[in-house]
Amino acid sequence: MSWASKLVEPYRIEDGSKFRLTDFDPEDTGKIHSKKHAEKLLADGIADMTDLQSKLYAQDRWGVLLIFQAMDAAGKDGVIKHVMSGVNPQGCQVHSFKTPSVEELNHDYLWRALRRLPERGQIGIFNRSYYEEVLVVRVHPEVLKNSRIPPSLLTKDIWKDRFEDINCFDRYLTRNGIVVRKFFLNLSKKEQKKRFLDRLDRPEKNWKFSEADVREREYWNDYMKAYEDMIIHTASPQAPWYVIPADNKWFTHVVVAAAIVETMEDLKLAYPVVDANKRKELRAAAAMLKGKKKT
Ligand code: ATP
Ligand code: MG
Repeated sequence: MSWASKLVEPYRIEDGSKFRLTDFDPEDTGKIHSKKHAEKLLADGIADMTDLQSKLYAQDRWGVLLIFQAMDAAGKDGVIKHVMSGVNPQGCQVHSFKTPSVEELNHDYLWRALRRLPERGQIGIFNRSYYEEVLVVRVHPEVLKNSRIPPSLLTKDIWKDRFEDINCFDRYLTRNGIVVRKFFLNLSKKEQKKRFLDRLDRPEKNWKFSEADVREREYWNDYMKAYEDMIIHTASPQAPWYVIPADNKWFTHVVVAAAIVETMEDLKLAYPVVDANKRKELRAAAAMLKGKKKT
């Protein structure tokens, strides 16, 4: 087992049937007890990722979709910034999903996600995603009511139906060679408070503070129930959830990096092999460049 798989294994959920969120400690730092050690491993992970991404791009067959879901201040932005720092921007697209626009509400809820899926050879990052449809929409019934879905379709089975549809969508992508990995950054309520206070205290962080986020905190328990139920129903071997401890950012970063490395290593990526004709072409080009006078 690679270092990446070993590190990430306790946090990978492939079968949600026995999943309990309370079994996962947001403060956990696994077997890594110092920030320094984590930073060293992260640097190694980023180097591996750079190499793997370069092969992904050259091979141009697989696509990778990384989904990040979390409560406010859990550090989604920081993860994306740090962990992806080694990847070539040409092979990576990030999209943040906000409250749906009028145009988006005029379509089915997967429409806006479909338009942002990564191409083959690319890593796509969803900062929030279609999983919000069983999170914020579930926690706030008025959001569902305003979603323009015909009222007769808003039955008590709606969440079960959505889990089923989302599972089918993840499976559809997987069967197309678009690999789906889902991350829940598991922050404690206590640490969220600390980070909000920090945003209030430090002028350079004030812009990140939103009063709405503090109001959303009132729904903490409802969100935790929604997250738990979502993971129970949508974790699968093909599209696992990673429940990443998020109270220590240095640990969050290294585990996410390890999960991405693990995922891409499993794809057995390789540079395309050049065939005999192409080799002949390359030899001829080299001869031309070397043999002819300067052009
Ligand atoms: P940050 O606060 O770190 O900048 P963020 O992801 O919280 O990042 P915001 O603009 O604060 O970005 O919030 C986006 C909001 O959009 C969230 O409150 C989220 O719940 C909401 N949202 C996303 N998808 C949906 C959806 N499908 N339906 C309703 N609300 C959604
Ligand atoms: Mg926010």
